Amino acid sequence: MQQGKAVKRVDDVMVKDPFCGAYFPKNNGVHLKLKNQNLLFCSRECRDKYLASRSGQTS
Ligand SMILES: [Zn+2]
Repeated sequence: MQQGKAVKRVDDVMVKDPFCGAYFPKNNGVHLKLKNQNLLFCSRECRDKYLASRSGQTS
């Protein structure tokens, strides 16, 4: 007997935007893949600003 009832609610997972600090559903996140990390932002705007702030720093 097999039942196809999988109770998964992955779309309810909330993650934090590393740039603006807002919480948003993981499903709605904008993905950014860097060399060593994968980030999720609440919007493309935040992703772009985060990238701009990174590249603006000369270390
Ligand atoms: Zn944001």
